[in-house]
Amino acid sequence: FVLPIKDQGLFRQQCYINGQWVDADSGKTIEVTNPATGEVIGTVPQMGAAETKRAIDAANAAWGAWRKKTAKERANLLRQWFNLMMAAQEDLAIILTAEQGKPLAEAKGEIAYGASYIEWFAEEAKRIYGDIIPPHQGDKRIVVTKEPVGVVAAITPWNFPNAMGTRKAAPAMAAGCPVVMKPASQTPFSTLAIAVLAERAGIPAGVLNIVTGSASAIGGEMTSNPIVRKLTFTGSTEIGKLLMQQCAATVKKTSMELGGNAPFIVFDDADLDAAVEGAMMSKFRNTGQTCVCANRIYVQDAVYDAFAEKLKAAVAKMKIGDGLKGETQQGPLIDMKAVEKVEEHIADAVGKGAKVALGGKRHALGGSFFEPTILTGVTSQMAVAKEETFGPLAPLFRFKTEEEVIKMANDTEFGLASYFYARDLGRVWRVAEAVEYGIVGINTGIISSEVAPFGGVKESGNGREGSKYGIEDYLEIKYMCMGGI
Ligand code: ADP
Repeated sequence: FVLPIKDQGLFRQQCYINGQWVDADSGKTIEVTNPATGEVIGTVPQMGAAETKRAIDAANAAWGAWRKKTAKERANLLRQWFNLMMAAQEDLAIILTAEQGKPLAEAKGEIAYGASYIEWFAEEAKRIYGDIIPPHQGDKRIVVTKEPVGVVAAITPWNFPNAMGTRKAAPAMAAGCPVVMKPASQTPFSTLAIAVLAERAGIPAGVLNIVTGSASAIGGEMTSNPIVRKLTFTGSTEIGKLLMQQCAATVKKTSMELGGNAPFIVFDDADLDAAVEGAMMSKFRNTGQTCVCANRIYVQDAVYDAFAEKLKAAVAKMKIGDGLKGETQQGPLIDMKAVEKVEEHIADAVGKGAKVALGGKRHALGGSFFEPTILTGVTSQMAVAKEETFGPLAPLFRFKTEEEVIKMANDTEFGLASYFYARDLGRVWRVAEAVEYGIVGINTGIISSEVAPFGGVKESGNGREGSKYGIEDYLEIKYMCMGGI
C-alpha cells in the first residue's frame, strides 16, 4: 500500500526514541487500517514497558540541556517545526484521513489547527514571567520564578491525531519539558509524522519521543515511573480516572481532557438559520466524534418544529463517503464499536418514544459508514441524555422555559463544552453564567482556537490547553525567600 503523498519520508512505521527510529524489542507490530476501506495502510511497533522506560530515561537525559536553552532558542526551534508542518500540510492531511477517516478538507484544517499550537506556544515561551512580592519582613526579599515541571508523558486519542499531540507537546516543550507521547493505536502515523518534522526542525534527540503499542503497558510505565512528573491525557473519562489513580502513587501533576455531553440550546429568540448552521458544525464535524460535539440539542417549544425542518433540510444535503475522494462532508466512524454505540442510542430512544426524522441506520456504503441521523421527541429518560454518543446522531429535546433548560443542561456529570443561541442580552448573560461548563459557545458552534483556553469542569477533567493559561500546566512555581539583606 502506498499513500499518495509527495514526501514518503513522512510516513514512518517505526517509533522515535532518543532521536532514533526503532522497532519493538519483540519485533512485533500492530496493523493500522483505513476506516473508509478496511485496507491495512501499514504497521507500527507493538511496544511495552521496557521501551517506554528507555524513552523516559532519554527524555530525562535531554531535559537539562533543553531547559537551559533560552526561551528564544526553544521558540526558534518550535517556529521551524511549525513552518515545516505547514509546508507539509497536504501530505499530513492525507496521512490523517487515511488512518482516521475524516474528510480531507477537515484533515487539512486539523493540520493548520494543530500547527497553530506550536506557533502560539513558541511565542508564549518568551513570556513565562515570574513575580517579585513585597516581603513580610524588612530584611527579606521574595522572588517567584516558574520552572519546567520535568518529563511529561502524553497520551492522545484517535479523533484528532495531529492536534491533540501538538496541543500537548508544544506547551510542554516551550516551557522546557521533554515529552514521551503515546498516540492511539488506530491513528499513530500522524503523530510519527510530527516527530519526523521535529527531527528535521532540529529539536534535539530525547526532547520528543513517540512510543506505540500496548496502552496498558505503556500507560502503566508512564504513570508509575517516578521520573515522569506530569501526565497529560485526552480520552475517555473512564481511562482518565484510571490514569489519575495510577498517578496518585507518585503524586504526578495531571491534565485531563475527558468526555463531554455538550448541550446545544436553541431559544425562541435565536436566529434559527444561524442556529442550524452552528448545529451542523458542532454536531457533524468529524462524523460527530469530538468531545465538544453537540450531544443534546434542546429547542424551545415555539421554534421546535421550524428548527427540526431546517436542520433536516441541511443534513439531507450532506455528502457521505471516503474522505480521500471527492467532496465528502462526512466520513466513516472510526470502527464498528462506534457504529454499535450509535445504533444502541437510536434503539433506546425509539423504544422510549422518539421518532427518526432522518437517517437512523448504517449507510449503504457499508463498513463503519452511518447515515447522519435526526431524532425528534427525545426526552431526559433516554440514554442519549446521559451518555456521549460520539457519532452522527442529533437528538432534539423540547423545552418550555429558560429555568427548565438550564437544569436539564447541567444534569450531567460532564462539563466540557456547551452552546446556546439567543439574542436577548439579559438571557445571554443569565444562561452563560448558569451553565456549569468550561466552554460556552454563544451564537456559535465552533469554539476551538489556540488563543483560547480549552478544558472542562466536573468529570470532564482538569487543566486547560491553549491560550496563555495552557503553558501553566507545564510549569512549577518556585518561591525564593532571600534573607539577611
Ligand atoms: P476512546 O474511547 O476515545 O478510544 P480511550 O480513553 O480508550 O478513548 O483512549 C484514549 C487513549 O488512551 C488512547 O491512546 C488509548 O490507547 C489510551 N488508553 C486506553 N486504555 C489505556 C490504559 N489502560 N492506560 C493508558 N492508556 C490507555
